[in-house]
Amino acid sequence: MAEKSYNHAKIEKKWQEKWEADQLYRAVIDKSRPKHYALTMLPYTSGDLHFGHWYPMAPSDARARFKRMNGYNVLFPIGFDAFGLPAENAAIKRGIHPKEWTYKNIENMRRQLRGMGTMFDWEREAISADPEYYKWSEWFFIQLYKKGLAYRKMSPVDFCPNCNTTLAREQVWGEDRHCERCGTPVIKRDLDQWFFTTTQYADELLDFSHLDWPDRVRTLQTNWIGRSEGASVIFKTEKDEHDIEIFTTRPDTLWGATFMVFSPEHPLVGAITTPEHQAEVEAYQAQAARQSDIEREATDKEKTGVFTGGYAINPVNNERIPIWIADYVLMTYGTGAIMAVPAHDERDFEFARKFGLPIIPVIQPESEPDFDGDTMEVAYIGPGRMVNSGAFNGTTVNDEKGRKNPGIAAVIDWLEQKDIGKESVNYRLRDWLISRQRYWGAPIPMIHCPQHGWNPVPEDQLPVVLPDDVEWKPTGESPLKLHPTWKDVPCPVCGEPATRETDTMDTFMCSSWYHLRYLSPDYDEGPFDEAEYNYWMPVDIYTGGIEHATMHLIYTRFFHKALRDMGITEGPEPMLQLRNQGIILGEDGEKMSKSRGNVVAPDKLVTQYGADALRAYMMFAYRWQEGGPWNSQGIGGTMRWLRRVWTLFTDPIAAPSGAKPPKSVLRVLRRKLHQTLKSVTGDFEQFEFNTIISSLMELMNEMYKVREAGAAGSKEWAEALDVYLRMLAPVCPHMAEELWTEHLKKPYSVHQQPWPKFDAEAAAEDEITIPVQVNGKLRDRVTVPADASEEDIKAVALASEVIQKHLEGKKPRKVIVAQKRLVNIVI
Ligand SMILES: [Zn+2]
Ligand SMILES: [Zn+2]
Repeated sequence: MAEKSYNHAKIEKKWQEKWEADQLYRAVIDKSRPKHYALTMLPYTSGDLHFGHWYPMAPSDARARFKRMNGYNVLFPIGFDAFGLPAENAAIKRGIHPKEWTYKNIENMRRQLRGMGTMFDWEREAISADPEYYKWSEWFFIQLYKKGLAYRKMSPVDFCPNCNTTLAREQVWGEDRHCERCGTPVIKRDLDQWFFTTTQYADELLDFSHLDWPDRVRTLQTNWIGRSEGASVIFKTEKDEHDIEIFTTRPDTLWGATFMVFSPEHPLVGAITTPEHQAEVEAYQAQAARQSDIEREATDKEKTGVFTGGYAINPVNNERIPIWIADYVLMTYGTGAIMAVPAHDERDFEFARKFGLPIIPVIQPESEPDFDGDTMEVAYIGPGRMVNSGAFNGTTVNDEKGRKNPGIAAVIDWLEQKDIGKESVNYRLRDWLISRQRYWGAPIPMIHCPQHGWNPVPEDQLPVVLPDDVEWKPTGESPLKLHPTWKDVPCPVCGEPATRETDTMDTFMCSSWYHLRYLSPDYDEGPFDEAEYNYWMPVDIYTGGIEHATMHLIYTRFFHKALRDMGITEGPEPMLQLRNQGIILGEDGEKMSKSRGNVVAPDKLVTQYGADALRAYMMFAYRWQEGGPWNSQGIGGTMRWLRRVWTLFTDPIAAPSGAKPPKSVLRVLRRKLHQTLKSVTGDFEQFEFNTIISSLMELMNEMYKVREAGAAGSKEWAEALDVYLRMLAPVCPHMAEELWTEHLKKPYSVHQQPWPKFDAEAAAEDEITIPVQVNGKLRDRVTVPADASEEDIKAVALASEVIQKHLEGKKPRKVIVAQKRLVNIVI
């Protein structure tokens, strides 16, 4: 049975089949053991697994296996994010139905995932395009709608003219505002769309106190949500007294507002513009519409703008101030109108100087001579006292934000009293736009009746199934809209003819809850079986890419919190711990992409080297959090290591030799073994996979050495072989199983063995080396027995020739031994 040479292809196939037949990785509720829900981001069904999948998954699998050996009942499921545009684009391009394309890809990806030697529990597979799955995506939509968390609104939205669909704000990327999927610059369109009220959860989403998530993700989410405290204030137009609401973080500077600036798209522009300014205003509006938001907001850009001819009244002092429009004010942030305080805001200052508008300082620092608006060279942003501000003159303004700033607090109280403004918080976060004008997605389960407006599809009629008989017209429009009968349906209220919503949901809706579907993918009484939820949730560790920080990772938190408020889920957060891997680049150091031709395909490498070698190499070659460029040459080194491990276990030299090895050799072996066990254990906990492999390599070298010194045949040698394979098992599951079962003849399976027990005494060093300082300067190092007393250490340190030289014959005033780690001699 036992093979002489390392035949990875044979071994890997053999064990994958046996594990599957034995359901070795089946995860079922077992209340006698602590649970561990390890989740790795589910792949999109693009067709082929590439290193972008292997790199997060293989180490995550190794860690899940490690947890399992540590006594946890581990759930490590997998599924497919199966809806979305690429399927539809493939359909249009190649004439294949998206369903066929998707499910064929899934078939291939399943084979590849199995080939990785992962411990996925395939009984729990969930596919978001299955009607059994999207029935519940629809059901969730209806629950959100009933709770008032889903609403429909006409609004200007980002639209990709190439993908022919709207995009969530999170899917618009880069300075040029291009489509995340296809790179086409997005345009604005006014459309009736469905939204989820993510903004209602903005404050709660800023609370990370229940999460062990990387700082970078927390910062990205915090900035994305963009909370700022201040006041909203109502100005009025001079003509017709229209209300103009503005938001400001600096209500303490209201007396310095000398003009207002509107976004060119502000709805009041038409009403306030006087006839003599109309042509100029319209030309400016047209010009602004052609630019992207980022271009418009760029701080280094020369300020442009035009006067509308209209005026507003500053409510704090009844001053008449001119209204301008300028492209640096965006409709999508705040209210689309700002009060301009040039003395204390850099952008407003630049604008005022360029167009000769008045500058009135209203904050004066003690340390500087009184500001003069005509001669100020830059805006003043710092603290001071309020001036030119009526009754508020003399009030202190510090660097704090919101009510913590006495000037701001005093003005907010006064505004509220006079009913011209109120304390207010502004967010950068927008509600989540979820309508997509595409076919291959979960239908939005809503029906429109001319009499009764929008109503949800009755729950007993779910799922609203996507029709298979669809065709794609050259207009690029969604086939659901063009389908002759699908949208015709009776109104759920009156039974008269009504129309289905033909938009489908953003696929991020489907992936916001997939971790719940894994709990019971066949369950039909609800989205998940409560017993499974109560045992497995929350997710203990979530692994995947940081590119999801402001999309999926916000959506899924929002989703969990919204469901919690409906009594469907429990607890503050869905995923307690998050770790992000880095990115594997092409061999040229660039991002892997088909168009660059630098994509390294794993299948070929699996055939050549085996899954175990590839798993080990992925873990060894990079710090997992960092990633780096791919280097095919590197696998050679990993492969050599595995062959040497193989030989160590199968070479006949390892057989008992009869000769008794010296005690010191066995002591060295046990010390190295348990030191390695300690560091490998810690590294698994900390996701430091590369040092796991290097530690195992070092230990192997040591084992070769002590074997040569006659250690084979001893019980210490047997222990080393046993512990080595248990440590190897999570990394190279096939090889470890083969050597364990077939060569050591130990009971199947190595993956059901407990993690080895660490022996601190064995790991302790016989001797320790301690640095010695004289008057705080490092002068020497001394080596003492590990169990030496403080007095012994002092004596050895003082006896050192080097130290004696530095003492220059003087008697030290003090000798301090700090925890056997440092000796300091004071003279
Ligand atoms: Zn696009
Ligand atoms: Zn009706």
